[in-house]
This record gives sequence, structure tokens and C-alpha cells, in this order.
Amino acid sequence: MTPRDHSNSGQPQEEVISFYAKHEKIHPREISGRFSRLRKISVFALLGLFYLVPWLSWEGRQAVLFDLPARKFYIWGLVLWPQDFIFLTWLLILLGLSLFFFTALAGRLWCGYACPQTVWTEVFLWIERWIEGDRNKRIRLQKSPWSRGKLIKVSSKQFVWIVFSFWTGVSFVGFFVPIGTLVESIAHAEVNGWPLFWTLFYGGATYANAGFMREQVCQYMCPYARFQSAMFDRDTLIITYDQKRGEPRGARARSSDRSQQSLGDCVDCTVCVQVCPTGIDIRKGLQYECIACAACVDACDSVMDKVGYPRGLIRYTTQHAVDGHPTKVLRGRTYVYATLLTVIFIVGVVGLIHRKTADLDVIRDRNALYRETVHDEIENVYLLRVLNKQMTPRAFTLTLEGLSGAHIDGGTPRWHVLGGEIYTTAVRVEVPSDTIHGGHTLRFVLTDASTGQRLLAEKARFIAPP
Ligand code: SF4
Ligand code: SF4
Repeated sequence: MTPRDHSNSGQPQEEVISFYAKHEKIHPREISGRFSRLRKISVFALLGLFYLVPWLSWEGRQAVLFDLPARKFYIWGLVLWPQDFIFLTWLLILLGLSLFFFTALAGRLWCGYACPQTVWTEVFLWIERWIEGDRNKRIRLQKSPWSRGKLIKVSSKQFVWIVFSFWTGVSFVGFFVPIGTLVESIAHAEVNGWPLFWTLFYGGATYANAGFMREQVCQYMCPYARFQSAMFDRDTLIITYDQKRGEPRGARARSSDRSQQSLGDCVDCTVCVQVCPTGIDIRKGLQYECIACAACVDACDSVMDKVGYPRGLIRYTTQHAVDGHPTKVLRGRTYVYATLLTVIFIVGVVGLIHRKTADLDVIRDRNALYRETVHDEIENVYLLRVLNKQMTPRAFTLTLEGLSGAHIDGGTPRWHVLGGEIYTTAVRVEVPSDTIHGGHTLRFVLTDASTGQRLLAEKARFIAPP
């Protein structure tokens, strides 16, 4: 409460100033056009992948499965193990750099077309329009008192939203738990523990974010909106209202002569504001709330077509172009990002192709430093873990390198290891006692028995008496 003098009598009057602006629900108007079609294609492609991929099979198993308990990530023919997590880092760097590249090139392309918040909100809006009608009907319905008709419409919408959100949660968990088993356990009401928690959590988050919070997630929660300006410069593509051409704005008769009037091209129809999912007026300039969905571009183009003016009063352009300076969309920083992206991509792909198809762990037996055998030899014992990272059975052989006279007790071992399995065994290495003193390094060499290909070599210490 703040005392302020607003009276004629000079007596201070109290005025309540609220720091909290009550949220007004935004009912974006439906629009068709080039960019709207692009957004629909993007929504279908991305959500289609999200809902379909968990159901695809590959060689008798789920094609894409992030099996956390088994610590294996299956991506079609590729199986990634904890030892391959460097590739996850590679993927994250690649995604981060792509975001930098596309933002420098075309502003908030990610927000407008690919962000999960945008694509799911779009689907929730389609459901809302399908059940409650167009923008005007939805506004009337919201303002109308509760009636049987309103109750049926609102509860039908909520029901479809909840079913869709729940299915979204199931699909998400289906990337981590075999989806067939998950759906079966849900059908028999046997799902519990983490799968149930994450299904409800992800489904609930989808329902809350896309059904209720919508543009507020972009405005108050998303950090990207805040730091994007660091990636922008005056040659970044942005969606802008052409002030010079549009102002002074104002309504006019359709038949009026454009060359005779003192008005700009904006007919002040506010359609660009009505279609905006974040409820802003692009004519006030670039605002951080703008997610660059280009709905206002389509809207204004359709208005310009109707009044017979050229399109592009609201358009993709750059700040330099708006100011009348030459602009270069492809410039230094975009070339740097593109080069970095290409190099990192190629390095990662080459690394993936040549990644190790087996792994070997060597642990020295800590119970005894060494043992002297009846054959006058010094013996060290090692525990070996051989991991077959391929999904087919393989045979391996083990040899020694780097220590003269060293041999494996019982000769060269040959092991058969099933696909994706770990084989653990003890190996005794012996060296004639008169040829060795003190500590030495040796290498265990793992070879593919069928191809003879040397796969990897692991170093270990051999200890003999001083
Ligand atoms: S849609 Fe175009 S003409 Fe209509 S108010 Fe917006 S900028 Fe002006
Ligand atoms: S101002 Fe235009 S581009 Fe930005 S969010 Fe609104 S409709 Fe989308």
C-alpha cells in the first residue's frame, strides 16, 4: 500500500500497487501460411519420432533402448557401454554448437519449431481448438458462466489432454524400459517403482507445461530466452515489423487510394497480436518473449494479400537490413561455428566407427605379491575381465608382451564370450626365477581368435623378489 495524493482535497489517498500481474489466458488465433505449414511438419516429424521410435525393433530387441540397469544404450546396430560415454559428451557438444550455429544464423529457430515446449503446446492447442472451437468461441466459453455445455466441453478437453499426457509419459519411459513390457504391466495394473514414477512425472510435466503454463515457461523459466542475446548480432535473422513501412498505422477504407493516404501499410487489424502464442505485439520491436514462431508473419502476409499491399510488413530480416545497411547472414561467426561443427562431427563419426569392440580389465591379485613355484619360477596372479561389446558371440585369445621369458600357465588361453557379456577369469603369469628381479611392466594382449586382429593391450606390473 502506498500513500499518494490523488484527491482534489489534498488528502493522501491509498492506492494498491500490485507487483504481481495476474495471468491472462492467451487464446491464439489459428493461422495458415508458409511458416505455419513448416511448424506443422516439424511437429509431426518430431513427435512422430518420439511416439514411434520406442516401438521399432532391431534384431529381436527394441531398436532404441537406454537400458540403465544393464548400462547399455542400444541405438539400432550400435551398442554403447559406460566406456563409450565419451560419445555422449560428443553428442552434447554437437547439440550445443548446433544451437549456437542456428541461433547466430536464424535467431530462435529452435524455440519456434523444435523446442519440446513449442511442439507439445501446439498439439494441446489443436486439441483445445478441436473441442472448444476457434479463438472467439474459446474466449466466449471462458467468460460464460458454468453450464452443462461448458462442463462437457471443458471436461472433454481435460480428459483428452490427460490421456495424451499419460501416453507421452509412457512413451518417454519406453526409451528406458522395454515398452512392450511396460504397456503390459500398465494394462495389468502391475507397474510400480521408478517406471510408474517417471511415467506420471513426465506425463504430469507435459500436462502442466503444455496445457497451463504454456508461454509462461518461455517467459519465466527458460534460460535460453535470457542468454540468446549473447548469440545475436545485427546480422542475425529475426522476425521484425517494418516500422518505416507500417507507420503511421491506422484503419482505412478498402477502396482508398494507397498513394494518396497519409497512413503507412499497417491497417491496425491486430491479427498479428491475436495469433501470437505469447501474446505480444511485434510492432513494439524485438522482445525476449518472442519465440520466433513466425505466426505473425503468416498473419500479416494474409492481411496484406487481402488489402492488396505487398507482403513482408512483418518478415524475417536482420537489424542491419532494417537500418538500411548491407547485411550478411553468412558471416565470420557462422563460418567458425560451421567449421567447428563439421570437424567435431567427423571426429565423432570416425571415433564411433573405430571404437573398441572389446574391453579388457586387468587387476593384480592383492593377496600375494608373488609366489615361487616348484619349477623355479616366479608367479603373479591377475584377475581379467573380458567384455565382448559386439552383440554376437566371439572367441578371444590372450598373449603377453614386454617381459622376456613370461608365459601364461597352461598355454595361450582361448575364451568364448557371448554377445554383450563379460567373462571373468584368473590368469597365472610365470617367469623363470633366475632371469627376473624387482618390478617390471608387461602387457596383456587381447586378440580376436577368428580374425587374428589385435584388439587391445593392457599394461600391468609383474613383481619378483629383489
Ligand atoms: S497484421 Fe499486419 S496490418 Fe494487421 S496489425 Fe499486424 S502489422 Fe498491422
Ligand atoms: S511475435 Fe510473432 S514470431 Fe514472435 S512469438 Fe509472437 S507470433 Fe511468434
